[in-house]
Amino acid sequence: MRAKDDKGQESPPPKMGAAERDLVALGIAAAAIILFVGTGGMVLPQVLQSWMGIGAAPDPVLVNALLLNIALVIFGWRRYAELTGEIAERRKAEQLARELSERDPLTGSLNRRSIGPATDTLLAAARADGRAAAFVMVDLDNFKMINDLNGHTAGDALLRAIADRIRALMPKDGLLARLGGDEFACVVPFDPRTPERVDHFAGLLIERVAQPVSHGGIDIEVTISVGISANLGAHDDPAAVDAETLTHRADIAMYHAKKQGKNCFFWFEEPMERALRFRGELENGIRRGVARGEFVPFYEQQVDLATGQLTGFEMLARWHSPTLGSISPEVFIPVAEEIGMIGELSERLIDQALQDAREWSPTLSLSVNISPIQLRDPWFSQKLLKLLVKHNFPPHRLDVEITESCLHENIGVVRSIITSLKNQGVTISLDDFGTGFSSLSQLRSLPFDRLKIDRSFVSELAGSDDSDKMVRAIVSLGDGLDLPITAEGIENPVILESLRRMGELKGQGYFYGRPEDAAAVRARLAEAGLLAHAVAPADDAADLTEHSARVNRKAS
Ligand code: C2E
Ligand code: CA
Ligand code: CA
Repeated sequence: MRAKDDKGQESPPPKMGAAERDLVALGIAAAAIILFVGTGGMVLPQVLQSWMGIGAAPDPVLVNALLLNIALVIFGWRRYAELTGEIAERRKAEQLARELSERDPLTGSLNRRSIGPATDTLLAAARADGRAAAFVMVDLDNFKMINDLNGHTAGDALLRAIADRIRALMPKDGLLARLGGDEFACVVPFDPRTPERVDHFAGLLIERVAQPVSHGGIDIEVTISVGISANLGAHDDPAAVDAETLTHRADIAMYHAKKQGKNCFFWFEEPMERALRFRGELENGIRRGVARGEFVPFYEQQVDLATGQLTGFEMLARWHSPTLGSISPEVFIPVAEEIGMIGELSERLIDQALQDAREWSPTLSLSVNISPIQLRDPWFSQKLLKLLVKHNFPPHRLDVEITESCLHENIGVVRSIITSLKNQGVTISLDDFGTGFSSLSQLRSLPFDRLKIDRSFVSELAGSDDSDKMVRAIVSLGDGLDLPITAEGIENPVILESLRRMGELKGQGYFYGRPEDAAAVRARLAEAGLLAHAVAPADDAADLTEHSARVNRKAS
């Protein structure tokens, strides 16, 4: 047994040096043997003659020297024999350790460390035979959930069963490795004239792995996402494509398969790598840009369709990145959500918007879009109220737009946040209505103040009969539930006219103008006489109620 260090890892065997130093013992034994021959040659005949009574007693000094010699020979020999045994044993242990370090203990396949060199060897052999090799990266979908639901023993059993299934499909000269966790890799040599055989192999993998695995009386099912690369690329010098390149590319293709909805396979293609790089740049750009205040609020007019009067603005995030140029919120918002930046990004924008909106007439409202992720934060309503207090902005002028996907979140938390906001006077709109899956009961159970019909229905009002029916249905649903309605995406007078005929709606869209920055809004309001005259400076929370009361009096 070898000693383990404090991380539970085995420490390497002590160096052979100490054992080899004991070769001195062998030297001593050899010298003792030579001496033994010398002294023995002299003393033994004397001893024999003395025993036979034909000679004098041997010299006791010489006899002692001989005995000492014998002892030295025995000692030296035994030590040497022990030493050889010890060295042989250590060599065996080392060999075993090397083998273990190259294997995954759970599945017996190669591991992350050994697959690289093994792949390089296979690539060289395949090239010599005029064959190609595919690196097939396999990653289980939602394995963490399976582990959490069924326990780690079941997870391990599943991994072993999957390794066996993959092995059963592999050609004899292929390689299988578990790269860690729930990730496997196979390296499969193939004839470059028939790459479709690799597609067939990947298809079979997906099909076989998806068969249920029985463990402890229950059937566990899992799917896989597969990424494939090969030393066949159009611009590749096959000799330059090594295991590292193939692993990297297969990984990118696998990531792509995950993004495409999992349970499928993709071959690596160059644009995937570019997309991934762009994604990395976006993530860094967002992190940096939020800190540097690169994100700014723009404002889109919201209008009472019957009178044409301006009722407020919807704030829309804009980002002009110094390195990436102008990026649409439809691109950066989902990324900010994924990397956990949406809260900070949104709060900074709302902070700025509330500051801008203090210059507007108190009759005008401000709508802000809130991501479902933000509604997971139990402190969200507190954060928003703090901003309202900071800017002395009357809560009833703020409208929070949430999308139907919020309703799939933890509905208890969403409800308590919405209730808390409503208790402060903030209004809540359901955005993009018609694109999600909100049920009527959800619509009634959450206290929405308004529905916003998605622009995809509204923009087509001019042309499509179906959109017309859809918009009509939503408008009458709003009537029935006593929910006022805003139509988005009014692009021309034809759409406006058909909406006007449907009822008393609010609306917004390019027909009224594109979203514009704070300065343009100020200029527009100045012209229309809709700027606030004197706005009291924001000091502290106590100001808020007094200020909103004053604003309300002025407004009425
Ligand atoms: P949304 O909330 O549905 O916002 C309306 C979008 O429609 C805006 O796109 C607006 O520019 C666009 N739009 C307005 N009128 C018309 C029209 O007549 N025709 C057409 N085709 N489009 C029109 P934008 O600014 O690109 O924003 C896209 C989405 O990004 C927003 O959709 C919203 O979901 C999201 N978003 C924008 N800002 C924020 C934000 O600060 N926070 C969050 N969570 N999401 C935001
Ligand atoms: Ca919106
Ligand atoms: Ca919308």
